Amino acid sequence: MEQDHPLVREVFPDLVTELITLLEHEGERELAVCAWDLRLVEECGCGDDFCQSFRTAPHPQGRPYGAGHRCVPLLPSRGMLCLDVVDGRIMYVEVLDRLGSSAQLPY
Ligand SMILES: [Zn+2]
Repeated sequence: MEQDHPLVREVFPDLVTELITLLEHEGERELAVCAWDLRLVEECGCGDDFCQSFRTAPHPQGRPYGAGHRCVPLLPSRGMLCLDVVDGRIMYVEVLDRLGSSAQLPY
């Protein structure tokens, strides 16, 4: 099951650290706890250079999230972070414009 997917905190440790800090700042304590255990299920796949978004839960293909869905926009030190949360579960982490000098491709 989800054990096959890597922990986001092992793939993007800086991102998760900042995410938790921002969530606690917003008073989203439960989401902050969830963020620590998020798994990288699937990359966004849109192919845009500025996009590092990823899914943290299997998405219901072709269907909207439904009534329990809410967006949690955050204000990171750089770029843009926004969570899609459904019934208290983080489904998708939108990460845009965060490619700084430390994250550039090695060529
Ligand atoms: Zn994308």
